[in-house]
Amino acid sequence: MTVTRLAAMLACGMLAGVAQAGDLPRESRVPGGIALVEIPGTSDLPPTVLIDARRAAVIRHENRWLAIVGIPLSTKPGPLKLRVTTGAKSVDVPFEVTDKLYRTQSLTIKNDRQVNPKPEDLKRIESEQERSNVALSKFSTGGAPVFALLPPVEGQRSDSYGSRRIFNGKPRNPHSGMDIAAAKGTPIRSPAAGTVVEAGNFFFNGNTLYIDHGYGLVTMYCHLSEIKVKVGDPLAAGDLIGTVGATGRVTGPHLHWGVALNRAMVDPALFLEP
Ligand SMILES: [Zn+2]
Repeated sequence: MTVTRLAAMLACGMLAGVAQAGDLPRESRVPGGIALVEIPGTSDLPPTVLIDARRAAVIRHENRWLAIVGIPLSTKPGPLKLRVTTGAKSVDVPFEVTDKLYRTQSLTIKNDRQVNPKPEDLKRIESEQERSNVALSKFSTGGAPVFALLPPVEGQRSDSYGSRRIFNGKPRNPHSGMDIAAAKGTPIRSPAAGTVVEAGNFFFNGNTLYIDHGYGLVTMYCHLSEIKVKVGDPLAAGDLIGTVGATGRVTGPHLHWGVALNRAMVDPALFLEP
């Protein structure tokens, strides 16, 4: 299936510069989901689209401009609006976000320091947060837009994206990615073309790397046993980037896979074939 999918991606022109209908992620206008919003008007000029002052991806689709917008998990259901600027003219384009109920998940971590960090850990955690923010803020243009992804690793996919998390009895941030269970050492492959923009050992996420795919689409890979690439490396879809491990705050070996659009960590399942 993977090979067929890649062939299909090549055949439908994904790598030729203009994204086609089949390349779009699935739409789900909920917190943590994706909105595909048609931009009104007939201008040939590409508009700039902002959500919360963050730039969103825009592609040409069926002779219209289409914004591909990540909806932050923390969004309250209700109206949201995009600020659309074409040339010298700006308009608001509203859309509606509906509610989604996510589960609560309780986990026990053996190393309590990973749940209740010591004061001396906080400085490290803060600087890693900053590095992560910088990586997630990338909005590179120039390459072909890619919005369909290959699974980065073969294995059992959890549907725990968005779960409220209780670690050792303490509420912590909700789960912002997909966990894929696989044995330590299983190869992890780049889900699409991109560039490695950050890599290192992080306090909570263990060995971690970030790939910039362009237009605000950034993917992250956590708890790796080994990182096989370095910052600045260009990647093609399917390139080996690392191996599954159990580094950082984990209960066992798996890949934590995060997908960000306009800096919002959205549900990675929306980019994969069901
Ligand atoms: Zn995870």
